[in-house]
Amino acid sequence: MAKSSYQAPRGTLDLLPSQARARQRVERVAATILGRAGYEPIATPIFEDTDLFERGVGRSTDIVRKEMFTFEDKGGRSITLRPEGTAPICRAYLEHGMHKLAQPVKLFYRGPFFRHERPQAGRYRQFHQIGLETIGTDSPLADAEAIMLLADLLAELAVPGVELRLGSLGSPDSRAAYLEELKAYLRSHEGELSKDVRERIDLNPLRAFDADDEETRAVMVGAPTIVERLDGEDAKHFAEVRALLEADGVPYRVDPTLVRGLDYYTRTIFSFVCAGLGAQSEVGGGGRYDGLIEQLGGPSTPAVGWAVGIERILLAMGDNSAPVVRDAFLAAADDDQRQRAMALAIELRHAGLSAEVDLAGRGLKGQLKHANRIGARHVLIFAADGSLQMRDMKTGEQRPVAPSHVLDELSK
Ligand code: ATP
Ligand code: MG
Repeated sequence: MAKSSYQAPRGTLDLLPSQARARQRVERVAATILGRAGYEPIATPIFEDTDLFERGVGRSTDIVRKEMFTFEDKGGRSITLRPEGTAPICRAYLEHGMHKLAQPVKLFYRGPFFRHERPQAGRYRQFHQIGLETIGTDSPLADAEAIMLLADLLAELAVPGVELRLGSLGSPDSRAAYLEELKAYLRSHEGELSKDVRERIDLNPLRAFDADDEETRAVMVGAPTIVERLDGEDAKHFAEVRALLEADGVPYRVDPTLVRGLDYYTRTIFSFVCAGLGAQSEVGGGGRYDGLIEQLGGPSTPAVGWAVGIERILLAMGDNSAPVVRDAFLAAADDDQRQRAMALAIELRHAGLSAEVDLAGRGLKGQLKHANRIGARHVLIFAADGSLQMRDMKTGEQRPVAPSHVLDELSK
């Protein structure tokens, strides 16, 4: 076997054709579902100024503290491979004056993202997300619609065992009071907390809910939760999102300990988890980020969005790649006939059928064997005397056919 001494970089995946096809299907289904709801595609660069993520994602987050692929370009600028999609889209929203369009602006994206994490099943250094952003409305309807669209996508793909967890972080004011209460609680249990959590009591106390450490988890069982402390408009907003989900029959569970790995969230947050995924149990999630655009220097602009990991969707779905449909293989007895075969193949392709010819110089017998191997439904055989035969590979039936009738026959 031909083997080179090179391997794909740590934490990256090669997608061989059957896996690449499975991913294409996920992307197609997403584009259809989101397109029907009026969301438009957007694409931003793979890399951005490092500062965008430091400001947008937050310096206290794991992403910025540990996971970014950052380097200096030849002009001495600090560049980062994008670890997430929301900050870049908000940057583009401002840069292109989208705040002057009718609001909300409804967008979706897909593509590769990069985080320097320890690779394991469902966790890679280059991974792929599909994401949605609804920018320019604080209506609870937008939160509910975003959640429902992700629920729809996972249902359409038949991802098994999905559960929706819902929470609310309140707004910065109500959260500030709660965070003081939480910090005081954490300090009173300082000795029982993991080093990481202890060091971040002031910086990011909410992250304590997300700790893996047993002792820390035990402490957090008794911690005050923000959902219990929501007041006024925040409580009303959360109640409306819940009522809308219930009205539309979307099952969910309120999880008062839900936190997300990005600093920018306000009010609604949610997470779709999948039991079959093991340790990396989240397929996708998101929330409302009413303060982010202002944080990036724009006008105060409420927004909500989510991102879902394509690799995790595929892992949860298991191997269910659909076979490729191959309508026709065109076999030819000699070089003159090869030209006719190619001409007819092109005509069939233009008519929307799949059609292949031999590219490896096989003899006629070898071509028929190959057609069988790739699962072609029909083989068209151009004989040396110029006659044309069509063979149905399922029934084995073979009969003469006029070139001008092939398209009709295959379309039957
Ligand atoms: P986790 O807790 O698993 O690290 P996260 O909170 O960092 O997830 P988000 O930033 O919300 O994840 O990203 C949204 C989705 O992107 C996740 O739900 C997951 O499906 C996917 N994702 C995130 N990081 C990775 C990764 N390193 N490899 C593969 N998929 C990932
Ligand atoms: Mg993470």
